[in-house]
Amino acid sequence: MNPEQAYGNAILISGPSGVGKSTICRELHRIMPQLRFSVSCTTRRRRPEEIDHKDYHFISEAEYNQHLENGDFLEHAEVHAFLYGTLKSELDCLRKGHDILMDIDVQGVTQVRQRLKDEEFLGRRYITAFIMPPSMAVLEKRLRGRGTETQEAIARRLRNAAGEMKKWREYDYVVINYEAATAAEELASIIRSAHLRTSVLTRESWNEEP
Ligand code: ADP
Ligand code: 5GP
Repeated sequence: MNPEQAYGNAILISGPSGVGKSTICRELHRIMPQLRFSVSCTTRRRRPEEIDHKDYHFISEAEYNQHLENGDFLEHAEVHAFLYGTLKSELDCLRKGHDILMDIDVQGVTQVRQRLKDEEFLGRRYITAFIMPPSMAVLEKRLRGRGTETQEAIARRLRNAAGEMKKWREYDYVVINYEAATAAEELASIIRSAHLRTSVLTRESWNEEP
């Protein structure tokens, strides 16, 4: 592989709550063990099965505001009544050749596009994919079936889902999560082929003497 193709890419995924992003990420970890997963900061309470500093950095609002003040965030947004943010340092691994998957909402992806558009290296090193449910009815069933949210939080997440799903055309790829293992395979194909985009090359290395 050309050295520029071998740098890492950031894969930004979005999708409504309950569509299966975390489930697909677990499947992806199985088939691409070398793939990194960005750990976001959030002021949301930890769910029983979640692990601090692995699933999220669970922080207080004061700590969140301190990160904001320090300019630590690549992007940050209020999502479903809680605060979320991705630390800029999560992108450091790209120069070391590691791909990293970031699960961030549509507002966050818009901010990343804006922030990286004039960046010589990082501006060419990310792709976006929207994860869609097979239908709204299936989405609701999955969100309720997960059993982690109050009735009020479920209603809020479903209300937000329709607005989020309207943004799918702004993304490079769309993956419909009928079956999690298949969706993960599709995402893995996208991640592999991202290294072969013409946009990652700045020079015609095939014309150089070995
Ligand atoms: P998200 O991270 O997008 O909020 P989750 O990964 O937590 O969503 O999935 C929500 C619920 O739907 C979980 O209970 C999960 O087991 C289930 N689920 C995810 N993908 C599928 C699928 N393809 N088919 C059936 N159930 C699924
Ligand atoms: P959950 O609370 O269910 O884990 O996530 C709720 C929503 O927050 C999801 O849409 C997820 O994509 C989004 N999210 C998670 N981390 C971040 C982040 O760092 N930034 C932004 N903008 N959204 C995030």
